[in-house]
Amino acid sequence: MSASLATVSYIGATILFILSLGGLSNQESSRRGNLFGMIGMTIAVLATVFGPQVGASGIPWIIGAMVVGGAIGLYAARTVQMTQMPELVALMHSMVGLAAMLVGFATFIDPEASKEFTGAAKSIHEMEIYIGILIGAITFSGSIIAFGKLSGRIGGNPMLLPGRHFMNLAGLLVVIYFGGVFLNSHSIAEAMTPVTVMTVIALLFGMHMVLAIGGADMPVVVSMLNSYSGWAAAATGFMLSNDLLIVIGALVGSSGAILSYIMCNAMNRSFISVIAGGFGTTSAAPKPAGGATQPAGEVVAVNATEAAELLRESKSVIIVPGYGMAVAQAQHTVFEITKVLREKGVNVRFGIHPVAGRMPGHMNVLLAEAKVPYDIVFEMDELNDDFPATDVAIVIGANDIVNPAAQDDPTSPIAGMPVLEVWKAKTSIVMKRSMASGYAGVDNPLFYKDNNRMLFGDAKKMLDEVLTVLRT
Ligand code: NDP
Repeated sequence: MSASLATVSYIGATILFILSLGGLSNQESSRRGNLFGMIGMTIAVLATVFGPQVGASGIPWIIGAMVVGGAIGLYAARTVQMTQMPELVALMHSMVGLAAMLVGFATFIDPEASKEFTGAAKSIHEMEIYIGILIGAITFSGSIIAFGKLSGRIGGNPMLLPGRHFMNLAGLLVVIYFGGVFLNSHSIAEAMTPVTVMTVIALLFGMHMVLAIGGADMPVVVSMLNSYSGWAAAATGFMLSNDLLIVIGALVGSSGAILSYIMCNAMNRSFISVIAGGFGTTSAAPKPAGGATQPAGEVVAVNATEAAELLRESKSVIIVPGYGMAVAQAQHTVFEITKVLREKGVNVRFGIHPVAGRMPGHMNVLLAEAKVPYDIVFEMDELNDDFPATDVAIVIGANDIVNPAAQDDPTSPIAGMPVLEVWKAKTSIVMKRSMASGYAGVDNPLFYKDNNRMLFGDAKKMLDEVLTVLRT
């Protein structure tokens, strides 16, 4: 393929990626967005493999690697459960980081890769390598820890080492110092020490950064690592002088950064506090004995028939889905119940918290899969004021996102996080299997409120029973 055809293909792919991002901003156009992304990626891969940067001798290697990687990806995509998606995404981010690190080292030790650069251009190229390995290493180790936390292999509690901010600062200064040593090295052997020290520090920093973050702040970390993976890809693009990779990396990096900002706003957290790890969180602080919001009172359990009666007698219902709905795969039954209630003239709406579930947009994906019409699905801010005028708020496998302690208990790890105020409805029904806490590990005073009812059991099983009663 000629260089000009490759450039035209790259421009076409870039436009398709931008259209893809635009499409993904809205449920109705998201399928089209995905399609644009797939076509763009196919063009990008073909233009790169058959473009001028790859010699004929390299093609069999690339095709071999694509077959192996594609087979692993296909296997993972077919076997992964919907509930394991967030950890799979974290694992994929780690791969981008690892790739950036490896490309950085390969470019650095291959004398052929840098021979065209001299003078200032050589220094800039070396800086690209140094920064590329740095971002890649942080993304790699941070994403591995995020994978561990999201899959439950590592506990959700923040690991707050004494003097952690000074450790991070000292690490940063060492990385800057060795950056200078690296740029002034005269041989590959001489430069190996600074780049290796920096890589180790970056790996430790990535681990430390994510380990220090409490469960409730994990959504920001997930979107932030998404952003880092984009910047790692952009850095790889600089190292390989590949314009498309630079553009795509920047698109992913900046959209991930915007998402992190949105997540921070949604959780009322400052971005710096979250990435500095534990700043502003009080999760490690001892709670005052007998604190005002220690859950107290009686828990009133109902059965499926009683829950169905409450729904049948209501005029307006708000359904709040959470991670448990994903675990139980209850979204289809939820929609069946919605249809039955709507046929009876009940106004049924869904309230979606921005960090419900375990990945951005998790609930929207599940509801779209069950074909719930978009016009009855609302963001938290759109209907939080409507709870007082609502007869029944039904919480399906959600916990942290409906926890009043976020408003009432300043010592809570989730203090300040906006929540869906389901307790303001005339009656709230919480469906879950036990009194266990949610991802943030915080007790939920909602369960003890006078107007709250608990429907214990697997969400799918209980909703099936509710549906049966509603249909009789
Ligand atoms: P939570 O994790 O707070 O609560 C989910 C609840 O679902 C649990 O308390 C559990 O209780 C219940 N549950 C689990 N399985 C079932 C089942 N089969 N049937 C019925 N109930 C079930 O989830 P939320 O959605 O309320 O909040 C999300 C949390 O995850 C927040 O803390 C958020 O910060 C965090 N997070 C979000 C990410 C995102 O991007 N959205 C990413 C990472 C973390 P029980 O065991 O008693 O059944």
